[in-house]
Amino acid sequence: MADNLTKEQRHKNMQNIRSKDTSIEIKFRKALFHAGFRYIKNDKQMIGKPDIILPKYKTIIFIHGCFWHRHENCKYATTPSTNSDFWQNKFLNTAKRDKIEQQKLKDAGWNIIIIWECEIKHNFQVTLENTISLLRLYV
Ligand SMILES: [Zn+2]
Repeated sequence: MADNLTKEQRHKNMQNIRSKDTSIEIKFRKALFHAGFRYIKNDKQMIGKPDIILPKYKTIIFIHGCFWHRHENCKYATTPSTNSDFWQNKFLNTAKRDKIEQQKLKDAGWNIIIIWECEIKHNFQVTLENTISLLRLYV
């Protein structure tokens, strides 16, 4: 996809998103694009810094890492055995923040789709199809 960013802007963008943009996320986004969905990615200005924004569908997609966002009953949502107080606190804060941010977005009229990293890792096609079905409801 062509864009009008200068080399410098692009470099800056790359730096900003490097920590977030995992290859599985990119693969998922590209699949959505190929299915005809147009989106904005990694908008830092927006509440919650969503991974994918689909303005036409008034929908925001968060691709949540299972570890940080504590995917329930997921083998990737491990708790480090050292510093467990620190981690518990960190996880609680993340959960609290997620909840507040999602509520704010809902209040502003956005639909929210949460996708877990393990879902796209292990059930890519199903997750994609489910997401597309949801989006069709939201248009
Ligand atoms: Zn998971």
